[in-house]
Amino acid sequence: MQYVEFGKTGAKVSRLGMGCMRLPSHEADGKTVFDEDKGIALIHRAIELGVNYFDTAPYYCDRQSEIILGKALAGGRRDKVWVSTKNPIENDSGDDYQKRLENSLKNLQTDHIDFYHFWGVSLDAFLTKVKAKNGPFERAKKLKEQGMIRHISFSFHDRDAGAEEGNRLIEILKNGEGVLESVLAQYNLMDRNKEVGIALAHQMGLGTTVMGPVGGGRLGAPSKVIQDLLPGKVKSSADIALRFVLANPNVNIALSGVSTIAQLEENAAIAGNTGALSKDELNTIEVMMKENERLAGLYCTGCRYCMPCPREVNIPEIFTIMNYHRVYHLTDFAKKSYAEIGKVDWRKYENASKCVECGVCETKCPQSLPIRAQLKETHKVLTA
Ligand code: SF4
Ligand code: SF4
Repeated sequence: MQYVEFGKTGAKVSRLGMGCMRLPSHEADGKTVFDEDKGIALIHRAIELGVNYFDTAPYYCDRQSEIILGKALAGGRRDKVWVSTKNPIENDSGDDYQKRLENSLKNLQTDHIDFYHFWGVSLDAFLTKVKAKNGPFERAKKLKEQGMIRHISFSFHDRDAGAEEGNRLIEILKNGEGVLESVLAQYNLMDRNKEVGIALAHQMGLGTTVMGPVGGGRLGAPSKVIQDLLPGKVKSSADIALRFVLANPNVNIALSGVSTIAQLEENAAIAGNTGALSKDELNTIEVMMKENERLAGLYCTGCRYCMPCPREVNIPEIFTIMNYHRVYHLTDFAKKSYAEIGKVDWRKYENASKCVECGVCETKCPQSLPIRAQLKETHKVLTA
């Protein structure tokens, strides 16, 4: 395993971090049941492989993730690792913020959180809730003085896509300067619009962690298109994706949410091998990904001008899922994602079958896309 200074926090962290959002589970009576013993074994194996940064959150794995991580670290392992968890900023109350922290401490069987994140804040939430008078920001500073929080952090995934997303990350960094010590943001081969913000965070001395280095599982699925970026030189899509992220000197930790020991060992082997991509290899990837993005853009640019839809069909999200199939040939992932629509928190919208063909969206699309026809095609292909 390779280790790196985590910004100016004083922590020396493994370049591979374990995301505890996909702990082992099975289906029983139509419900997902998390396998505590397997989860604990997976975390123990990660520690054996040299991983020393573990990221969780109160709602991960049906609220079991913090508890399983706590059990795995009890009995002598807690002080060997850095624990990261998150506070959902549901309101601007400092008291509520503290209550949620205390609950996480209980779940994790610890008296302090090493990296405590304002969870998934948008710029608006950061300014109006986190930084409200006597709100979470002020309380976090007090709790840090008391030792319950070691480092104040934030995670960012502003939902609106596009160039502005990166700029909003920069605004949060500026508004939290001197207090925020690390950032967690999405970054991978197919989602690079926070690259500039991550570089600025690194320059400001924050520790930088990226989530979804293998595209939240997208790039873990075999894809000839992705592997053909460097023909013959990479073993799998996950290999190229993880090496791409780790080749960025502004990224300290790549978090990977694994479910099996085999995935964990594969990722640890990649992170332990210095085989970062060369400049030429990065250039080749850059050119080919741009071309793929251009192809994706021919279908839908994700501008969201077509929204809202009166039937709550999230057109750009559905077309993004379709593009994983159409452009990157990640068909299994696309089908799985499509099936999640309406069933998981991060896909709370309707699928294409709810479109009543009113045509309102098409009058607003600058690409003049035949949205109704494409939605029909998407539903047909991704439910086949
Ligand atoms: S045509 Fe379909 S997707 Fe477009 S606005 Fe109407 S219901 Fe929504
Ligand atoms: S307006 Fe057109 S290009 Fe923009 S997100 Fe909607 S469908 Fe895609």
